[in-house]
Amino acid sequence: TAFQVVMNKIELGMDLTKEDILLLLKTESKKEIETLYGVADRLRREIVGDIVEIRAAIEFSNYCKKSCNYCGIRKGCDLPHRYRMEEDEILEAVKDILSLGIKTVILQSGEDDYYTTEKICSILRRIKKETKMGITLSIGERSREDYLKFREAGANNFLLKIETTNQEVFERIHPDNDFDQRLQCAKWLKELGYVNGSGNMIGLPGQTVEDIADDIVYYRDMGIHMIGIGPFIPAPGTPYENLPTGSVEMTLKAIAVTRIVCKNVFLPATTALASIDADGQRKALEVGANTIMLISTPDKYKKSYQLYKNKNMIDIQSAIDAVKGANRRLPKYLKVTSKEGI
Ligand code: SAM
Ligand code: SF4
Repeated sequence: TAFQVVMNKIELGMDLTKEDILLLLKTESKKEIETLYGVADRLRREIVGDIVEIRAAIEFSNYCKKSCNYCGIRKGCDLPHRYRMEEDEILEAVKDILSLGIKTVILQSGEDDYYTTEKICSILRRIKKETKMGITLSIGERSREDYLKFREAGANNFLLKIETTNQEVFERIHPDNDFDQRLQCAKWLKELGYVNGSGNMIGLPGQTVEDIADDIVYYRDMGIHMIGIGPFIPAPGTPYENLPTGSVEMTLKAIAVTRIVCKNVFLPATTALASIDADGQRKALEVGANTIMLISTPDKYKKSYQLYKNKNMIDIQSAIDAVKGANRRLPKYLKVTSKEGI
């Protein structure tokens, strides 16, 4: 069968075409899906091993100047509470993460100009000086010069998702963004030597399976190292609040195919997936994912960073449960005693 031909290409280490990728994403056959997941899981083991990377995110501001139609903290949302963390508060949260032994922190926020280039650089320098941790920034689109300054101040990774490579869909869901500008930002980040993070949402309005195949080809062609794939989940108070949630199965298939196509990359079992399926992270870890991102935003702010409804606040215990459920190993650097003890 055509499916078998693609499987043989994978076994022979041949590059898949967009048509091959589409065929894998489209299969509805239970048996073929099982085979796809099995191959992705095996390649994951061979390429990145059995240890699940644990990273932690601090969502330091929920102010945003943009109004992406899907997002629960968009400017147009009338939120009961907007917050900004100051440098000292961020440093304190970073040190809590460090005390768990975790080695990479993700600093995420809306696009908030309150944090000037100088402010961000100062935070980055202090984290480097006081903890030596790896730092991932996820603060949206900025100028090339800013990205350079952040890099020099200590940022190692940058997570700026393409969300979809279909320009029409991209521009429909992003009233404030230009598709070419987003691509330009991704290219700058690559040139500047960041570990380049991207990702997409599954189930966006107007998105086709073909678009998802294009997204995966884009990750390969752009040499993306970190790929967050999660379902679209409607957020109350946004223009998309009544749209259907993206499919768990299509998300898992996209993760599996991305592992097969992109090989040596960080593939998180995303918070969004865990938010629509209580067992979603374990499932993702079994089809190619190898990273979990804890939400380490201080409790008093957590509930105000509601990107979509019923967001799961991934904590260390739920991460450990997912890792154990998937029969995988926790990294040695973790200094955590769970209920069951590790
Ligand atoms: N403002 C920065 C940006 O847009 O890159 C970083 C924060 S933004 C909230 C981080 C990610 O949240 C986006 O890349 C998007 O994929 C995800 N997100 C936002 N709203 C979502 C929704 N309704 N469903 C699923 N993911 C969503
Ligand atoms: Fe702002 Fe990012 Fe949400 Fe868009 S996705 S509204 S840029 S926080």
